[in-house]
Amino acid sequence: MAFQKIYLKKRYMIIKQKIHLGKSSFSGVEVMDGVLVEFYCANGGGFKHEVFVSPNSPYLNDLVTEGKIDFESLSKKGVATMSIFEKQTPLLFQYQFFNSKECNNDYLIIFRLGEWQNGRYMCEINAILEIDLNK
Ligand SMILES: [Zn+2]
Repeated sequence: MAFQKIYLKKRYMIIKQKIHLGKSSFSGVEVMDGVLVEFYCANGGGFKHEVFVSPNSPYLNDLVTEGKIDFESLSKKGVATMSIFEKQTPLLFQYQFFNSKECNNDYLIIFRLGEWQNGRYMCEINAILEIDLNK
């Protein structure tokens, strides 16, 4: 009975829109300490948010396993192609939530951070999405 209740409460979050991103790629060994990312507020007006993307962030796959979001929806929003999501690479997608008190919007930041196969350290911001957490 308890399990059923939890199941009914479990809802998908809603992707509202993909946010325009100025700089989305960062390189150098210092990215391993995290990256400060700037992006435009979904409310417009050219207002910028700043968020610190940490290498200790959880993995996107966990969010999908929890049933909060699915790869198909993310692919449709241009986060990455399905073949990239399905491909097993040493560099996995990570995510962070960000809520701004200034606009009260919720954002989902999806990125890959680490040492790539060519020996370069890189942080690639795949997408920043304005979302409705649907709590
Ligand atoms: Zn905002």
